[in-house]
Amino acid sequence: MQFIDLQAQYAALKGEINAAIQRVLDHGQYIMGPEVAQVEQALAAFVGVKHCITVASGTEALLIALMALELQPGDEVITTPFTFAATAEVIALLGGVPVFVDVQPDTCNLDPAWIEAAITPRTRAIMPVSLYGQVADLAEVNAIAARHGLAVIEDAAQSFGATYQGRRSCGLSTFGATSFFPSKPLGCYGDGGALFTDDDRLAQAAREIRVHGQSARYTHTRVGVGGRMDTLQCAVVLAKLPRFEWELARRRALGERYARLIDHHGAGLPLQRLAVRADRDCVWGQYTVILSPGVDRAAVQARLKDVGIPTAVHYPRALHQQAAYARFAPAGGCPVAEGLAARVMSLPMSPDLAEADQERVVAALARALAPAVG
Ligand SMILES: *Cc1c(COP(=O)(O)O)cnc(C)c1O
Repeated sequence: MQFIDLQAQYAALKGEINAAIQRVLDHGQYIMGPEVAQVEQALAAFVGVKHCITVASGTEALLIALMALELQPGDEVITTPFTFAATAEVIALLGGVPVFVDVQPDTCNLDPAWIEAAITPRTRAIMPVSLYGQVADLAEVNAIAARHGLAVIEDAAQSFGATYQGRRSCGLSTFGATSFFPSKPLGCYGDGGALFTDDDRLAQAAREIRVHGQSARYTHTRVGVGGRMDTLQCAVVLAKLPRFEWELARRRALGERYARLIDHHGAGLPLQRLAVRADRDCVWGQYTVILSPGVDRAAVQARLKDVGIPTAVHYPRALHQQAAYARFAPAGGCPVAEGLAARVMSLPMSPDLAEADQERVVAALARALAPAVG
């Protein structure tokens, strides 16, 4: 069994994907070819925003968003420490200060209750992460941001396609940033990402920054980066789009099925499922559970590995517990995030995960957890 089954997806789309790649090879416009604008148009329509700007990766999307907002050295960005490093990395890279606030113990997403106390005169933006495929509390975050004149960048690398109060992830704030890394909900066959916004001026800035700050060829209006997504990767995403709604439905169904299978074991299993709020769904970029305190996670993972079931930990440490970000550790830390980092574990998940395999995962999980409860 694979942790994420990309081969089954390719098998289902082989004809379309091969043809799409062949078209690019035939026209030869490897950079900024026609598929780039085509996928941007399709994705903007899908999300329901005016502008989509494809970029080299999810990390680049976050970086370019901050550059378009003209983040200055010393500026503060409020974010979660319970995320992939890229979220805070881009802030630090620009000389900014990631200000970590704690997360909710049941969704693992940034807790808006802590945001206002963290705002200072240097705060420029809030960067919530829609972790595991569930949008964070964007309405609350947006309301706080509006009161204080701050921008909001949703790190939607794991939540592309998720809905929140009837709207799509990536279309809920100043900028939405996503990743097309192969294992994400909408993946390409290499690196890729995209920015989404309704703001014409910010979209223009992002488009220029993506190509070395050029407003016209060899007219460098601002400092930019080499941040384009190549035509082949855009063609792969385009070819995958017709199946994407089916994949999202499948992700939701498999998520609900995991929940039923886990609950079927009654109060027996020493773990907590992720809470999904009523006004949104989760596309399960990762199917992550929270093991009960005291469960030996490494031992559980080893037992599952022994029976051929791969697991992962997203993420084993809160970012302020990592050497590179220790200098940004808030006084008192972020106890909820630190606790979750010690207890979360992700199970195999992809739209092509077979029901029988899913049953095998939960049965093996129950057996692997049994020694933990004695
Ligand atoms: C994957 C991921 C990123 C980075 O995306 P890349 O395309 O790998 O650069 C950023 N934030 C989160 C939460 C992610 O999961």
